[in-house]
Amino acid sequence: MQRSSYNAKAYSAASEKSGLRSATIPRREPLERDVQIEILYCGICHSDLHSVRNEWSEFMATQYPIVPGHEIVGRVTKVGSGVTRFKEGDLAAVGCMVDSDHTCAQCKAGLEQFCPNMVLTFNSPDKHLGGVTYGGYSDIVVDEPFVLRVPSHLGLAAAAPLLCAGITTYSPMRHHGVGKGKKVGVVGLGGLGHMAVKFGRAFGAHVAVFTTSPHKKEDALRLGADEVILSRDANEMKKHERSFDFILDAVSADHDINAYINLLAVDGNLTLVGAPAEPLRVPAFSLIMGRRNLSGSAIGGIAETQEMLDFCGKHHITADIEVIPIQK
Ligand SMILES: [Zn+2]
Ligand SMILES: [Zn+2]
Repeated sequence: MQRSSYNAKAYSAASEKSGLRSATIPRREPLERDVQIEILYCGICHSDLHSVRNEWSEFMATQYPIVPGHEIVGRVTKVGSGVTRFKEGDLAAVGCMVDSDHTCAQCKAGLEQFCPNMVLTFNSPDKHLGGVTYGGYSDIVVDEPFVLRVPSHLGLAAAAPLLCAGITTYSPMRHHGVGKGKKVGVVGLGGLGHMAVKFGRAFGAHVAVFTTSPHKKEDALRLGADEVILSRDANEMKKHERSFDFILDAVSADHDINAYINLLAVDGNLTLVGAPAEPLRVPAFSLIMGRRNLSGSAIGGIAETQEMLDFCGKHHITADIEVIPIQK
């Protein structure tokens, strides 16, 4: 359905080879339930880069021009007449999704991220204006149920990555019962891993970070890890055999996942949130002996994302960031 639209300023890429440039894009005029948000900060996620370069073309081909960005913190500039939770001037946040069908079993269970009709913040079909949705490297107009509240005392730039990296780590840790008395491992100390360390600590678990580089030891300890394990040191790894309740694997490069499965206790769980391009090799016996679980996880539902933001507000958790102007 064609609706009335206006021109919004954006940073968009015209092709997989061109970089991001200043441009204008059409945005719908806010409808009854819409919240119009001026962007203050937007995180740069690896999936933004993959999408701009069309590196995930096999399952999600990029349509150009693309406006990436799904770690959005901004200020409300206008609301539709049916909006109840936001008013002009409020802080607001938007993550990886901007719509779903609200009727399927997943939506009813608060798992909108697995709704077959979920609409991603960018590069998903746009039911309002046709074409695809445009993300947060631009001001944005979003249906109220997908707009979140950010605790205003958090640093806003550092809160933006919570909308993707934060919920991607918070959700599986909560789901698998990470808490007091649990031994938790984090593989990969990047955007996702460093959030997992902070959450693990805030949940009261014993947190170990696996790293291949000894120089990351200090970083891990500063973030709150209880110990750091050099994954290339076979002796050190052996000491931790059959001891972990939960391991979060945030590595997207090819790696030996079996080395970590062997560290799981009985009923332990290894959850993948990184996505290596090649299939992983998993020996069945590693799982059979110990009734171990290998699982995956993708962001979190809207209610859980709000819960995560509120938790971060209470525990003063934000991401470690570097701020750059959009022009760069
Ligand atoms: Zn992301
Ligand atoms: Zn649904």
